[in-house]
Amino acid sequence: MPRFCRKIYLSIKTILLGMRVTVRYCFARTITAQYPDVEPICQERFKGFHVYQIERCIACMACARACPVDCISVERTAPRKLDKATGLVTGGKIKRFAINYTTCLFCGLCTDPCPTKCIHMGPVYDYSGYDRALRTVEFTELAKQGRRTVVPLWHKKAKLPHWAAANRDYWEKFDADKRDLMLESVGPDDSAGDNEK
Ligand code: SF4
Ligand code: SF4
Repeated sequence: MPRFCRKIYLSIKTILLGMRVTVRYCFARTITAQYPDVEPICQERFKGFHVYQIERCIACMACARACPVDCISVERTAPRKLDKATGLVTGGKIKRFAINYTTCLFCGLCTDPCPTKCIHMGPVYDYSGYDRALRTVEFTELAKQGRRTVVPLWHKKAKLPHWAAANRDYWEKFDADKRDLMLESVGPDDSAGDNEK
């Protein structure tokens, strides 16, 4: 009987705890974020578009295997290996590293098994556009431009709100000292890959 009563007590307590959050939001003041004039505030652990460090990627496919919707494609020219002494990857090149964002769930499961910790969930949340085909992001093409992640299309406009211009400048300068390594890691488009998904 005491066990039965305790279960009822815990059930009611759990419901009340959940309802406390719901009720608090029911009566909270509604706030409209004036995006894009005002920068939206994301939570610290927000999972946005990926940030990919190509020069540390060994094309092991662990991320692609962990992905529940098979939206990661990896192609390499030959095996790649991380030299622990120098921290540099040697061997083949990355022919293609792409993520299809029409199916990506932004779950982050791809980042956990990465042995070199070269793929992360980033802070960029806006990559809307008019063409579904372009929602597959070719990270190897971004690497050729010295970029780690996507840039919102509207950030290419000449006149931007101050916060957006600052974000654009931040990503333009991000890891600028690694640009040579990034370029060296990208394989030729016409070489025969030995690993595909
Ligand atoms: S965030 Fe999730 S769905 Fe998206 S690529 Fe990673 S594992 Fe796949
Ligand atoms: S798990 Fe990491 S090292 Fe392996 S292919 Fe994915 S991003 Fe590259």
